[in-house]
Amino acid sequence: MSVRVRFAPSPTGYLHIGGLRTALYNFLFARHHGGRFVLRIEDTDRTRYVPGSVEDILASLRWAGLEPDESPVHGGQYGPYVQSERTEIYRHHAAMLVERGMAYYAFDTPDELERMRQRQQAAGIAPRYDRSAMRNQFTLGEDETARLLAAGQPATIRLKVPLHGDVKFHDAIRGAIVVPYKDIDDQVLLKSDGFPTYHLANVVDDHLMAITHVIRGEEWLPSTPKHVLLYEAFGWTPPQFAHLPLLLNPDRSKLSKRHGDVAVRDYIAKGYFPEALVNFIALLGWNPSGDRELYTLDELIEAFSLEDVNKAGAVFDLAKLDWMNAQYLHRRVQTDLGSLIQQLRPLLSERGWNASDDYIGRVIVLVHERIHRLPEVVEFADYMFVPPRYDEEFFRTVWDDQSETLLRNLSSVIETTDPFTAEELHRRLNQFAAEKSIPFRRIGNLLRLAVTGKRVGAGMMDTIALLGKDETLRRIASLLSSVATLQGSPASDSDVEAQPS
Ligand code: GLU
Repeated sequence: MSVRVRFAPSPTGYLHIGGLRTALYNFLFARHHGGRFVLRIEDTDRTRYVPGSVEDILASLRWAGLEPDESPVHGGQYGPYVQSERTEIYRHHAAMLVERGMAYYAFDTPDELERMRQRQQAAGIAPRYDRSAMRNQFTLGEDETARLLAAGQPATIRLKVPLHGDVKFHDAIRGAIVVPYKDIDDQVLLKSDGFPTYHLANVVDDHLMAITHVIRGEEWLPSTPKHVLLYEAFGWTPPQFAHLPLLLNPDRSKLSKRHGDVAVRDYIAKGYFPEALVNFIALLGWNPSGDRELYTLDELIEAFSLEDVNKAGAVFDLAKLDWMNAQYLHRRVQTDLGSLIQQLRPLLSERGWNASDDYIGRVIVLVHERIHRLPEVVEFADYMFVPPRYDEEFFRTVWDDQSETLLRNLSSVIETTDPFTAEELHRRLNQFAAEKSIPFRRIGNLLRLAVTGKRVGAGMMDTIALLGKDETLRRIASLLSSVATLQGSPASDSDVEAQPS
């Protein structure tokens, strides 16, 4: 039997990192086994529907390279792939279960159900539908049930859970699971408005879409006994189940917005590479081998197996994602600088900055080892595109009485440096430092202040060589003419403080 798996998100908002991990594992499993990867939209709960979610899910999957084989947009022979377009199918199947004696009609109003819950709470028993005491096919009898249905009384269809025995199933990650029937509620399958609940629609679709493996988040594990029961009630063979470990915040609470971004689109916007996010997410709960960390999508497909998925929750470590993204940035600088230039250009244009492709490329090469994400170039190396803003604290640590003279001398050295390369600059400035017995670090700091305005940056000689002689001389002159202002501002502050009140 060929492998068919599905990713079945509900369109209740942007695709979450956890959703991407589920989609990825399904995708890897399908590709590893030469099977099919299906995207099904589970939109039966119309109250939770958020417009735009389906588009975001599709766009995020496409960005990550997880193109479904069958979906609402890709089509396929098992469609429609949107549950709201399949309501007739669910009604038919619910009715089928009633006919087989595996489900029954119930006519309880929300108030009656609420009173039942309160009675159970007061008696200290777990809230569960009380088949023997409520208004349903069993307590009312067949004739009365038929009469009420004919009269158009609102009715739900509930699953008739056996009173004795256990549900047993095997989970590829958690092993054998046994749940006593008495712990399972007579789940509503079809609501009185004719719409199915998640449980009915999910099971019917997995069966009709010939899904062989259900790979989904651990939060669905408590629903699985009901699903297995439904397969039994229909007389169908259940698929294999695999419930993926939870994603955790660093404090081991469930991954949440409070600790950082959870929507895939936020990571896209921050400039993470799809191959980095995919690589990172693949290792959240799955470890193919000891310490290897970097895998291409093809390598992930090759290595993936459900047996290597962990039971324990996986901590989402942003620092590791950043590290990984930096590794891919280094690779891309080597192999695909052109696409990096194209990605960075709009971010520069947004700020009204302009430069040639060649120049942008050299800036990326210059700074890429000091950043994790390409868009960081904009903050980190703003001075490569616009005149520097001087960090006053850095100015105060660097500047002293001799700085002005020293800077004028450095200006002359730079002016006469030819060819204007990092090596030649280094040689000439070193020579100058030796002649004047000035520590080279002092020269470096002073030039850094003039050229970049801040303490942290890429290699100084490379930076100056790339900016060019004219621009460097202009910046030195500009710092010299700003000294009075830079010295003035903090002094006047302390003057004010010193005033007697
Ligand atoms: N619609 C469910 C969700 O939003 C799908 C759960 C499942 O995969 O069965 O995650």
